[in-house]
Amino acid sequence: MRLDVLTLYYLLVGTSVLMVALTLWESLSAGRRHLELRLCAAAYVLFALGSSLLPAVSETPILIGRGLSHVMIACGYAVLIAAVAALTGRRAWRWPLFGFCAAYAAVWLPLAPFLTNVSWFWISSLTIAGINLVGAALVWRGRSIADLRARPLLAATFLVHAAVYLVRLPILLAADSAGAVRHSLAVATVFEGVLFAVAVPALFIGAIREEREQQLVAASRTDFLTGLDNRRALFQEALRLPADAPHALLLADLDHFKRVNDRYGHETGDHVLKLFARVAAAELPPGAIIARLGGEEFAAILPGTPEAVAATARRLASRFTEATRRFEALDAEITVSIGLAALSSGSGSLADALRAADAALYRAKAEGRDRVEIDAATPLPERPLRFNRAATRPARTPWSTKAAG
Ligand code: GH3
Ligand code: MG
Ligand code: MG
Repeated sequence: MRLDVLTLYYLLVGTSVLMVALTLWESLSAGRRHLELRLCAAAYVLFALGSSLLPAVSETPILIGRGLSHVMIACGYAVLIAAVAALTGRRAWRWPLFGFCAAYAAVWLPLAPFLTNVSWFWISSLTIAGINLVGAALVWRGRSIADLRARPLLAATFLVHAAVYLVRLPILLAADSAGAVRHSLAVATVFEGVLFAVAVPALFIGAIREEREQQLVAASRTDFLTGLDNRRALFQEALRLPADAPHALLLADLDHFKRVNDRYGHETGDHVLKLFARVAAAELPPGAIIARLGGEEFAAILPGTPEAVAATARRLASRFTEATRRFEALDAEITVSIGLAALSSGSGSLADALRAADAALYRAKAEGRDRVEIDAATPLPERPLRFNRAATRPARTPWSTKAAG
């Protein structure tokens, strides 16, 4: 089968128009990524217009034929790079790139009538290859899209496209003016152009959807108020714990929290919950998984046995109470009770550990709150776990006596 360049040009125009519709449609539901897709659509409008002039290029004056079509296609690539730049977090790049388009048109359109077809071939090949190399580099180095599966494919698409425009230059030089070689080159270029025209919007849409999917997964695992993991994430992370290392589950419940809400209002209560999250993130070791289970109840998975992490739990409790003392919206400190239990790996083990830690927490509450208790099944450490109240207590009255009265 002999491929016809003219048919391929029409296919390129049709594909570009289709991609304009597709990217615009997708931009309606792309949220904050709508700019990227609209820039992509604008690039394809320019590709469609530029390509539609190409079939009649030999019958049209060179200014409208080669000149205008080349300028529109080159500007299409520049706008596409603006879309890529926006995708990689450089939204402001679109302004200099629009400026580049204006300058490019201002330079080449007046020169168009004086340039031969071969000159245009060189100009367009080098321009398109250069712009696509910039696109490949931008995608490859784009940190904001670093973990998207579409990224290497998008970078490779730009790279291959640049290579096609570079490789055809020496071939043309070697083949001189042999008609058959020129025809094959034109067919290969437009054929690859059609594939490029489909691949870029498809990968763009793929990348944006993939990113949205990652955001939704992250949101489904995050506690909205505190930004900590939520219960779902805690259970998922527990499945990934290494089997050969001991872990402890820490269960914390703020003391008399209902009174905080009743006295200072829900908003202040929310601030106290966020304060606990901040203190926990600062005080617990870097490998800890910290989650808000719901209400004023938090859990953390820590490496080590319950006895080994008891000191950390005590420090967390005293730092939180200290922080509430400094919190201006409150005139009484808030304490926290903590239960600790051993956590083994395997499914169902977190539920068991939560039950055990809850029993320890219940004991801490029953024995007067503001203390750390270890699950009874775990051997007790030699040091008592109760706080040394004289050492850690401030002059302020705790909730348990002040607010109760
Ligand atoms: P205890 O010392 O026995 O734990 O007493 P408590 O008052 O802390 O416990 P209780 O279970 O009676 O009350 C928990 C309160 O937590 C009730 C509810 O108003 C409050 N709460 C739950 N979720 C939120 C929240 O998201 N924001 C705020 N501000 N309060 C919450
Ligand atoms: Mg509670
Ligand atoms: Mg409570």
